[in-house]
Amino acid sequence: MNPAYLFDIDGTILKVKHKANRKLIQRILERFGINHTEVEELDFAGKTDRDIFSDLLKQPDEDMFHQVKQIYLQELERNLTPDDIHVYSGVHDSLEYLRNKTAWTGLLTGNFARAARIKLAAIGLLEPFRFGAYGDDHHDRNDLPPSAFDELIRQSGEPFKPSDLVIIGDTPRDIACARSFGSIAVAVATGTYSYEELKDCRPDAILHSLEEFPAWNERFMAN
Ligand SMILES: [Mg+2]
Repeated sequence: MNPAYLFDIDGTILKVKHKANRKLIQRILERFGINHTEVEELDFAGKTDRDIFSDLLKQPDEDMFHQVKQIYLQELERNLTPDDIHVYSGVHDSLEYLRNKTAWTGLLTGNFARAARIKLAAIGLLEPFRFGAYGDDHHDRNDLPPSAFDELIRQSGEPFKPSDLVIIGDTPRDIACARSFGSIAVAVATGTYSYEELKDCRPDAILHSLEEFPAWNERFMAN
């Protein structure tokens, strides 16, 4: 049986250009009277959207969190264009490669589910991902693999085990969350962490970019 593959989005599949994303968040915070001058410099890598907005809003109540979330998603949908997004090299080829293998391919991302769809739809890459876990409900990335796994079992009806999941991401948090569920951690050095920094976290594999993914997977499957 093929493993199932779970991809992170930001830093792994694509990068929303800094200007577009941070300006949008800053504008929304201002509407709520929050002057967060350091939005430009904050490190969001590997965090869930729920966690990011809870921090920015300084532990909002559920009502305020919900309002800000809805505005963020509306603004993202209205404003995000393909020009705001850079797709990393090797992404299209890796997804095509997995499609040819008829492997189950999903998302494991801190993005709100709708934000994930907006970003991927903008670049025509929504269709390959058949299941996933998202950052709507969870503060901690380590809570995502069990959700994705349950969804995979439900949809596929196949007897996957946690060790049959390959979790692909660009941060130490992605590696830690794969480890926490007993899954395979593949780090890709296209995000804000360098190859050396990721290597120190001891993933099962580390790639300079997803260009190296099909060849790595062939070796992995042969072992
Ligand atoms: Mg990422």
